[in-house]
Amino acid sequence: MPSKLLQLTPETQKKLDDIISENVLLTTVDKLVNWARSSAIWPFTFGLACCAIEMMAVGSPRYDLDRFGAGVFRATPRQADLMIVAGTVTLKMAERLQRLYHQMSEPRYVISMGSCATHGGPYWQEGYHVLKGVDRVVPVDVYVPGCPPRPEALIEGILLLQKKIQKDSVLKSTLKRITT
Ligand code: SF4
Repeated sequence: MPSKLLQLTPETQKKLDDIISENVLLTTVDKLVNWARSSAIWPFTFGLACCAIEMMAVGSPRYDLDRFGAGVFRATPRQADLMIVAGTVTLKMAERLQRLYHQMSEPRYVISMGSCATHGGPYWQEGYHVLKGVDRVVPVDVYVPGCPPRPEALIEGILLLQKKIQKDSVLKSTLKRITT
């Protein structure tokens, strides 16, 4: 006859199942997949204005973005999972930028580099043709301040993005995508 100590109420059993599924299986798979994803970021070759020159410098041997697994810039959105919005986003460009974002592989990430991309920069008040923040058309994961930000600042932004990716729950987000 089973001991009373082993008899669990349905509520307790459910809680226990939740704890096990969250902390054993999902966490282990998440850790592995997130580690792989954060160590192999594929940025999209995409520059809009002066900030893009600093972004190009990040790929040079002096800054060596390859150290962080993010040095291979792809020329097509379908092979990229990181869009670095480096420069002024004009209203005409905003529509194209949004389309390119939707063509990127999932899960995809966006870094807003510089004050123009983040809130319009020097054009925030009088620039009738400039979007006042790229987060009005695509979701932004990391904002890098500066006009322009130095390459070290962009590298710090990429490191922050890697930390964010490492906290993802891959299975949960995949299930969510399938069921919605
Ligand atoms: S933030 Fe400054 S450096 Fe960057 S695109 Fe705008 S004006 Fe140029």
